[in-house]
Amino acid sequence: MNLINHFIGGKLTPGTSEIKGKVYDPSIGEQKSEVFLGNKSDIDEAIKVAKKAFGNWSLKPPLQRARIMFKFKNLIEKNSEEITKIIVKEHGKVYEDAKGSLQRGLEVVEFACGIPQVLKGEFSENVGTNVDSWSIRQPLGVVAGITPFNFPAMVPMWMFPIAISCGNTFILKPSEKDPSCSIMLAQLLKDAGLPDGVFNVVNGSKEAVDAILENQDVKAISFVGSTPVAKYIYENAAKNEKRVQALGGAKNHLVVMPDCDLDSAVDGLMGAAYGSAGERCMAQSVAVAVGNIGDELVSRLSKKVETLKVGPGMDKNSEMGPLITKEHLEKVSGYVDLGVKEGAKLLVDGRNLKLQGYENGFFIGGCLFDNVKKDMRIYKEEIFGPVLSVVRVKNFDEATKLVNDHEFGNGVSIYTKDGDAGRTFTNKIQVGMVGINVPIPVPMAFHSFGGWKRSLFGDSAMHGVEGVRFYTKLKTITSRWPSGVRSNPEFVMPTMK
Ligand code: NAD
Repeated sequence: MNLINHFIGGKLTPGTSEIKGKVYDPSIGEQKSEVFLGNKSDIDEAIKVAKKAFGNWSLKPPLQRARIMFKFKNLIEKNSEEITKIIVKEHGKVYEDAKGSLQRGLEVVEFACGIPQVLKGEFSENVGTNVDSWSIRQPLGVVAGITPFNFPAMVPMWMFPIAISCGNTFILKPSEKDPSCSIMLAQLLKDAGLPDGVFNVVNGSKEAVDAILENQDVKAISFVGSTPVAKYIYENAAKNEKRVQALGGAKNHLVVMPDCDLDSAVDGLMGAAYGSAGERCMAQSVAVAVGNIGDELVSRLSKKVETLKVGPGMDKNSEMGPLITKEHLEKVSGYVDLGVKEGAKLLVDGRNLKLQGYENGFFIGGCLFDNVKKDMRIYKEEIFGPVLSVVRVKNFDEATKLVNDHEFGNGVSIYTKDGDAGRTFTNKIQVGMVGINVPIPVPMAFHSFGGWKRSLFGDSAMHGVEGVRFYTKLKTITSRWPSGVRSNPEFVMPTMK
């Protein structure tokens, strides 16, 4: 059995815990590896090492830190096939999708290569006579990232390239379901010349996370995962006086206006609802059919969902792979059972899909519901599987209200040819990432990623300039170099003369 270690202080180590987690190949449903689940002492050790490394690393000129990022970028490109295969093997998503997700992570590394530019401060000369004011952004210290299973390379890469380029040292606690990618990235960072201890990976589950939350030397936590855990992280990190950004779950709508290019809306929905088997926080799991478009939309979608090519991720013909675990498969199937009980109309039923040669894989076919109502649990809750719900509404205002009333606010899209509708939608919608005739509006690395409402706890989104702000603290200096005349002490609030 393959054993997956931690990576602490530049070395692989099993740590001190006896407890191991199981890592599967979801396409065949077989356990392939065991991962050491780190305990408090493993986490504390990694934090100690990272704290020591912070001294030298934080003093390194940003340009030198950026040069390491350049080398890291080259190494990722060189090893992209191997990393992609690791993603496919442990997560299950199809090869091209896994490759695309690595590319989106790589773009954050590219952004981090320009860190000297974005770290530049501001300067005001002569704010008072002979007095100058200037601001700088300095790193926080040891920071941590806790990440979900669905993007084992991309989501950690939303965090650490920026954090370490800003001069912090980093502890990554990846998902215990697909941890190998993080270890590979740690090795590549070392090969790129990153000093030992600057980037560390500790595998584990709740015990490891709690140890991060409790350790006084961790100054900030970036979390991505489900909403209940995001809220837990937000509350406990804040209680322990840490900076925190905690991105949670989602239920994303795609609003189909009667005037839209329906072919493009249907194609957009297919990729956005069923890509990565719906295991995306930006998956569009609700199609909102406005006015009289419903029947035509549902008829076109049904045909496409029925012919979705489901199969193992390494098969070039597969459009959709398996789910991550048997438990998750049961949860998603359970939601389809529930939808039927709640009275929604199941047009395409992907349950009980069996693939020849992959009978034990965690597969489910695409599922499509029509006539879903807003009080149904299948509408309100995140399913995180290939299940698309069609909700029919009378008009644009009803569509907008539906989206705005939902507890989540991660992503949303509208398909329309009407510029007025698109613009009003952009202005009124209570969601963090909005697409106009774009199905999955994931911002590029130089913008920032983050939802609203219960999809993000905290004040900053990830990567881009918001990422730089999150991983640095502002210092403002006011200086006077007197020209030989000393003034007497002043006991009133200073004002500039
Ligand atoms: P999860 O919340 O179960 O796990 C996320 C991380 O938290 C993992 O590292 C896990 O080990 C840890 N964890 C799990 N339970 C914990 C607990 N009780 N206490 C402390 N730590 C705990 O999420 P997941 O199933 O790995 O990922 C899927 C979820 O992530 C979905 O809800 C999805 O929407 C969300 N997600 C959100 C975004 C976003 O940007 N908003 C992006 C990707 C995924």
